[in-house]
Amino acid sequence: MSDCLFCRIVEKKIPAKVVYEDDQILAFDDVNPRAPVHTLVIPKQHVASVQDLGESDRTLLAQLLLACTKVAKHKGLADPGFRLVVNTGRDGGQTVFHLHFHVLGGRHMAWPPG
Ligand code: AMP
Ligand code: ZN
Repeated sequence: MSDCLFCRIVEKKIPAKVVYEDDQILAFDDVNPRAPVHTLVIPKQHVASVQDLGESDRTLLAQLLLACTKVAKHKGLADPGFRLVVNTGRDGGQTVFHLHFHVLGGRHMAWPPG
């Protein structure tokens, strides 16, 4: 069994509230939501962070972004807008080292972020 938390969610070994799924991508609600809508969009294959994406991941990266927009639309955020966040590395605040896009919305997002 994988020791990566999000790989285990992909394997359905850990339960999650799935919002969207296709061959390459899984989206599920964050267990500790920071906004009324807080969904994580991840590749099913293990990629540790955005820095580990290469030229061969162009299509996957586009699919991830498109999945984020599908999730946002599904959650009613297309009109009011939303924020996409990809925390990267220690200073970026990344705590789970399996690439994920945070889709945040349902309230106004402050800028700059903390
Ligand atoms: P990050 O800090 O950017 O690496 O984001 C990791 C996110 O994963 C945090 O927002 C956590 O609340 C979330 N998280 C951790 N464990 C789970 C889980 N079992 N199911 C859903 N979300 C989780
Ligand atoms: Zn993983």
